[in-house]
Amino acid sequence: MKKVSSLIIFSLFSLLIHAQSTPRCQHQMTPIKTTTSDTMDVLHYDINLDIVYLSKKSISGYTDLKMTTKHNGLTFVKLDLLKLSIDSINVDGQSISSWSYNDTILSFALVNAMNIGDTVICSVYYHGMPIKDPSGWGGFYFSNDSTFAFNLGIGMQDNPHNYGRIWFPCIDDFVDRATYDINIRVKNGKLAVCNGTLESTVIGTNSTEYRWKLHNDIPAYLASVAVGPYVAVLDTFHGANGAIPIAIYVKSNMVNQALASFANLKQILAAFEQYYGPYRWERVGYVGVPFSSGAMEHATNIAIGLGYINGTLAYETLFAHELSHHWFGDLVTCSSASDMWLNEGWAVFSESMYQEMVYGKEAYKDNMRGLLYDVLKNTHGRDGGYYALAGIPHNLTYGSTIYDKGGTVAHSLRGYLGDAKFFNMLNAYMSQKAFSSQSSTDFRDFITTNTGINVNDFFSSWVDEPGFVHFSVDSFYSGTGMNPPYSVQVWMRQRLNHKPNFANSNRVPITFMDNQWNRVDTIIEFSGVTGSQTYSLGFKPTAVFCDLDERLADATTDYAKVIHNTGLIDLPLTFSKIDVKQISDSVLIQMTHNWVAPDSIGITYPGLRISSRHYWTVNSIPSSNYDARISFHYYKGVDFDNDIIKNKDDSLVILYRPHGAMAWQKVKFTKTGPWIAGYIEVDHAQNGDYVLAAYDYNYLGLHDYKNVRGKLKMKVKPNPSSSVFNFEVNDDRPAYIVIYDSVGKEIAKVEMVCQVDKSKGIWSPNGLPSGHYIAVLFSMDGSPSYKTSIIISE
Ligand SMILES: [Zn+2]
Repeated sequence: MKKVSSLIIFSLFSLLIHAQSTPRCQHQMTPIKTTTSDTMDVLHYDINLDIVYLSKKSISGYTDLKMTTKHNGLTFVKLDLLKLSIDSINVDGQSISSWSYNDTILSFALVNAMNIGDTVICSVYYHGMPIKDPSGWGGFYFSNDSTFAFNLGIGMQDNPHNYGRIWFPCIDDFVDRATYDINIRVKNGKLAVCNGTLESTVIGTNSTEYRWKLHNDIPAYLASVAVGPYVAVLDTFHGANGAIPIAIYVKSNMVNQALASFANLKQILAAFEQYYGPYRWERVGYVGVPFSSGAMEHATNIAIGLGYINGTLAYETLFAHELSHHWFGDLVTCSSASDMWLNEGWAVFSESMYQEMVYGKEAYKDNMRGLLYDVLKNTHGRDGGYYALAGIPHNLTYGSTIYDKGGTVAHSLRGYLGDAKFFNMLNAYMSQKAFSSQSSTDFRDFITTNTGINVNDFFSSWVDEPGFVHFSVDSFYSGTGMNPPYSVQVWMRQRLNHKPNFANSNRVPITFMDNQWNRVDTIIEFSGVTGSQTYSLGFKPTAVFCDLDERLADATTDYAKVIHNTGLIDLPLTFSKIDVKQISDSVLIQMTHNWVAPDSIGITYPGLRISSRHYWTVNSIPSSNYDARISFHYYKGVDFDNDIIKNKDDSLVILYRPHGAMAWQKVKFTKTGPWIAGYIEVDHAQNGDYVLAAYDYNYLGLHDYKNVRGKLKMKVKPNPSSSVFNFEVNDDRPAYIVIYDSVGKEIAKVEMVCQVDKSKGIWSPNGLPSGHYIAVLFSMDGSPSYKTSIIISE
């Protein structure tokens, strides 16, 4: 299923934000186990309902449940049924006189005790007005104009979420699977669309019964009905298992829109068959319903908002998401709500996968980069914290962690295993686990067995823990050899973003390149904080790139591009852009925005706060071929630069280091924009790391003074400065300033010029080394009256 809210938002600085669904619930609840599929097993449901007068918003009829038992001596049946009224119950054709029903659980005694191998048919006759979920998402809907009625099989807020029980008695969990006959009687002129195949139609004087049969087994939440003035848009998909009918049910005036909106449906099916194995269902089906907040993946009968079938491809990703559930969710179902990432994370991953097939590999990368950016920036805000995928709290079953972060972790597993093993494994998983439920650990163990790569450490870190790992190439050494083979040593570094433990058994793609663009790609394996490996190469690399092809969704957003011309180039989702001033030949540039704190080795500037959130890495080859100005974005945002920018008089600077093994140093820059957001611009881009830092205004004494006699204040602007400092004192008595270096040595004396109510002085450091200095104001009698820090920048 997918809740859809907004699609695309542009921020103040036109940074593309990948907005995802934001389902939120108010209460944390412990999952309630109502009935038990441990003792009972429903084999088949035969649902017979009248949904004739839609204005009454009610249903009536009966459901036959063919059941068996998993234990000997079963005497009682317990079924889920929510807020309907029971009319009568038969067990194997015999009417029973008593049952217990509390609006949630229906229980009754069997006529004869059941043993393993026995079956019984229980017929429950009932009626009532089926409910909606308290959140408004999920349940049974009757349109106000009495045109449509339909169900959505998940209640986003209810506990359990499973919503088969709102319209038929059932075992309503993710484990119990059954086949279905669904026979719905509707007013003539309407059509009832359900799962599977329309077997027959019985036309009466005023009403018509539509008889549907689903041959494959599904959990109850995937059973569906939609009633409306439908026509079928028909086609055939020739897939791996032969010809499969496609039937999309829409209003009669929407046929052309449906044809246009689903133009790529067969390509999407072919993509998923290639990636995940054959489509194993008897029909490909969608039904348009008057719902504007998403869609629900009822098996072979996806309920999709009519508004999304608008004749464009704008909602193709949503169609693909739901279709992918016919592998992840419907075919192999999560075994509990706390394993929901196996359904929804993989459906979100499939949103990128189908784009790879239909629109190309760059489309996949762009989509995944946008998703990862969104996850790193927004998911913890939406879900109210950082959560692990496995064992997600009940109120976050349909949250951004499960969907969006789940999608990025599936992508990382692809990078971890490599495409060949990854897709072979998924094909085998769908084949061997078809029509069953699996937990996160079941999936983990399957992968290890199937691929021969032990993924226990991957799951421990990426699935079972909150937060993010971060990988970087700390440094490399190509040695002094003049002839091949060259011995090249690479040092890796792991950092963490809201994650408790360092990950082990990491497999990080790295790329060696020289100035002739000779290239070798490999995987470096290491555990813990640091790792190192030595390689023998036929060329001497001048650059080593970390994850150049963005195969791992670690705490980075990267953008790599070959540039040929001068001009301004946006580097999307990296909070930076580059203005190429001069270029002699092509340059490959990789900009990495690192969503982790850099280490502060070598920070010796008093009063300087270095970012605890992020830094950038520039890697380009050949770096001598171009000259560029880089603009780094700063903004005083929550979880962004509000750790260093606290006050309008703070002084923002940028630091640089050639690589992770060297100390931070100051670089010249210009700042554009107001104090809360703008760009720090650095001329002559160099390979290495850049990080924002700020001097506290209290330390610098930069606060504006108020010209009140008796309260002496001194203002220094600009500060830091490389060329000139202007001093202003709110006192017009004669005075002078002495500049001292950091060890107290007198450097210069500045005479103050008196004006009305104030005095001013000006001083140039004239080639003094950059660093921290003290300016002290003296009265003419030699008594110090005010002291402040100044910074000479490079
Ligand atoms: Zn979904």
